[in-house]
Amino acid sequence: MKYADVIVPLSVAGTFTYEIPDDLQAECQVGKRVIVQFGRRKYYTAIVLNIHSQKPDYQTKTIFSIIDTKPIVNQTNLELWKWIAEYYMCNLGDVYTAAVPISLRIESQTQISLTKDIIDTQLSKNEQIIIDKLKEQKTLTIGEVEKLINVKNPLSIVNRLINKDLIEIYEHFKSSYKPKYIKYVKISPSVRNNDDLQKIFEKLKRAKKQTDLLLSYTFLSDLRFVDNKPIFKEIMKKDLLNKSGVSTQILNSLYAKDILVEYEKQVSRLKSIDNDKVSFNKLSDVQQVAYQQIEESFKEKNVALLFGVTSSGKTEIYIKLIRNYLRQNKQVLYLLPEIALTSQIIERLRAAFGNDVGVYHSKFNDAERAEIWNKVNQKSAENKKYKIILGVRSAIFLPFDNLGLIIVDEEHETTYKQFDPAPRYNARDLAIVLAKMHNAKVLLGTATPSIESFHNAKTGKYALIELKQRHRNIELPEIIIADTRKARKNREMKSIFHPVLIDAIKQAIGNAEQVILFQNRRGFSPYLECRTCGWIPKCKNCDVNLTYHIDTNDLVCHYCGYKQTIPQKCEICGDIAIETRGFGTQKIEDEIKIFFPEVKVGRLDLDIAKRKHGYEMALAEFDAGNVDILVGTQMVTKGLDFENVRLVGILNADNLLNFPDFRSFERSFQLMTQVSGRAGRMHDRGKVIIQTSMPSHKVIKYVIENNFEQFYAEEITERQTYSYPPFVRLIKISIKHKNENIARSFALTYASILRKYFNKYLLGPHDPLIKRIQNFYIRELLIKIDKKISLPKTK
Ligand code: ADP
Ligand code: ZN
Ligand code: ZN
Repeated sequence: MKYADVIVPLSVAGTFTYEIPDDLQAECQVGKRVIVQFGRRKYYTAIVLNIHSQKPDYQTKTIFSIIDTKPIVNQTNLELWKWIAEYYMCNLGDVYTAAVPISLRIESQTQISLTKDIIDTQLSKNEQIIIDKLKEQKTLTIGEVEKLINVKNPLSIVNRLINKDLIEIYEHFKSSYKPKYIKYVKISPSVRNNDDLQKIFEKLKRAKKQTDLLLSYTFLSDLRFVDNKPIFKEIMKKDLLNKSGVSTQILNSLYAKDILVEYEKQVSRLKSIDNDKVSFNKLSDVQQVAYQQIEESFKEKNVALLFGVTSSGKTEIYIKLIRNYLRQNKQVLYLLPEIALTSQIIERLRAAFGNDVGVYHSKFNDAERAEIWNKVNQKSAENKKYKIILGVRSAIFLPFDNLGLIIVDEEHETTYKQFDPAPRYNARDLAIVLAKMHNAKVLLGTATPSIESFHNAKTGKYALIELKQRHRNIELPEIIIADTRKARKNREMKSIFHPVLIDAIKQAIGNAEQVILFQNRRGFSPYLECRTCGWIPKCKNCDVNLTYHIDTNDLVCHYCGYKQTIPQKCEICGDIAIETRGFGTQKIEDEIKIFFPEVKVGRLDLDIAKRKHGYEMALAEFDAGNVDILVGTQMVTKGLDFENVRLVGILNADNLLNFPDFRSFERSFQLMTQVSGRAGRMHDRGKVIIQTSMPSHKVIKYVIENNFEQFYAEEITERQTYSYPPFVRLIKISIKHKNENIARSFALTYASILRKYFNKYLLGPHDPLIKRIQNFYIRELLIKIDKKISLPKTK
């Protein structure tokens, strides 16, 4: 008897062993999906991890069926999964769930719905029953399907229907990337030969425009007739109208006469472009040197850090490298943080590599992600296989079989780290692990290296390649400090803007230039405060101030979503003098309008980005010049290239610097430098104004001097002195309970046990920055693991 150890898509420890029935033994293979029963009457799509003949010492169930003809994950993927489960201390099921799109791992609870196109195909009786039921009611769970058709194993049937594109996984929040339908025009089937066509032309003799249109159509479509049937190329309605230059009305009259007919087709959600039209930029001399240094370094080292100032042309270097790996028939993974994966970068890669590029974004819906998964998993001989994937952190899980290069752009970005739920991985670090498994190379790129990566480069673990010149030698911006403390003392701060900033904006607008104003969101949202006693409305479930929203005029908790109306008076002293404090992007937007009533102001923050197309629209409006001043959070700092921006204002550097975290200086340096990089990229030298009450702070000094090396030198000394990464590893343990006393006393007890092993390397228990979230009280412990100590033993 043969057995398979499988991974189920659940957060449970370990793998589970199932019997492989005789008739499935030939088919069963590591990496294929199988359907198993797990728990009472629940079915799951599991992945085979091992096949063996060791009978476990418990009663085994049998595998119901095998879904795949070819494994959907390969051996290397599974190696990576195991590595993650081990290193980040989570279950294999957690990794499986994070890695594979839902439609490839359906289970009893999964909801399904009909896809938009109802294609006529042969259906089995059971398949038909499911489809009919779905026409009646929008969604079904797999559990309901099971009852409906009364078979034990509905997952195989459902999978068949998914493969036929008849049903899909129902998603409550459908993404904005809906399947696209394109209208086409063709000759009516009633026109069967040249004679029919001639007769129509005669009838249309006096309708000149209709004749023109029909002529255009026959010409564009290469219309011919064979055996009383028309043969033609497909013509998009849009193209026909454009090329014939007639109106939709004329076309409609040909529809009415049943000469032409319209039909729709779903285009692949992934735009197709002409592979002959690809183009490349020639590298400048300094770029060419950097490129060669990278190639050279890869002969000895597996990882290179490209430290190139903003606008130095790092992307151009990536493109050249990618070409090189494609020529060797290797795959390339190009990772970007979510907010940097904009249409700008997608277009640039598409212009260079055409349809070889696949894009993997968390905004895509599940069906699209599954489509990309499959296109990476195809055999290389199939020409639809993607050779380059441009993706966010989860793209690391795609089933690459032949990776040559991984590029991690903006490697310093904290969004490469998944904090919640498990696996709590960092995609930059995983890129290095994965590359090793493929014998591939890694290029980390950034204008503001993370302390960890730069340390690795300085100590020789990574190669270091520097690019200090901006493309076309555009100067780095001039950075000006606006001292808010002094201005306040002199009663010059009439608003949240320093007069220096107001003047600069005035000047920019006068020159018809655009302005970006940056405000860090973290810990700095507007709230209400009683003027008399200082009372601040707080969330009922969390230990945070409620954020004041001007547009909806209510108070919202940003951690749990709790909402309430504005209190009429103070709950403590009863005073009605309640005022707003702090300023978020919304407040800035409103205040700027007071100073510049004529000017168009746009906003880009999480609230906007959550709206459908919100992010793209805000950027497009700005790019098109419909907005003069863009107010935004971190989102405005990334990978954007605006020609007409010369002035950038950073409204509050203090809260960046004061954030209580050992990385806050690093983050401050990165953010300020990156935001500054948006100023004056194309033509003239840009200007950056930083508002702060600590004008002589060393981090600000290094930002002004653009002196990363010195900043690094000081920061790394501090990290060493106080034992922080990269000199130690950190494990954070959070203890949560609804009862505060239980959370506290458990944390104490647990800490006293751990302290026996770790003594001074155990910190805490302490309160985290936010003590209570969604009614759970939180206490934290931190373990510092010296590089000399065994990591597995510590775990
Ligand atoms: P980075 O990624 O380092 O911020 P980019 O690659 O975005 O810089 O380059 C900045 C701008 O300069 C882009 O508009 C890019 O198209 C242009 N550019 C850079 N190098 C070249 C080149 N060799 N040829 C043409 N344009 C270039
Ligand atoms: Zn009060
Ligand atoms: Zn809350």
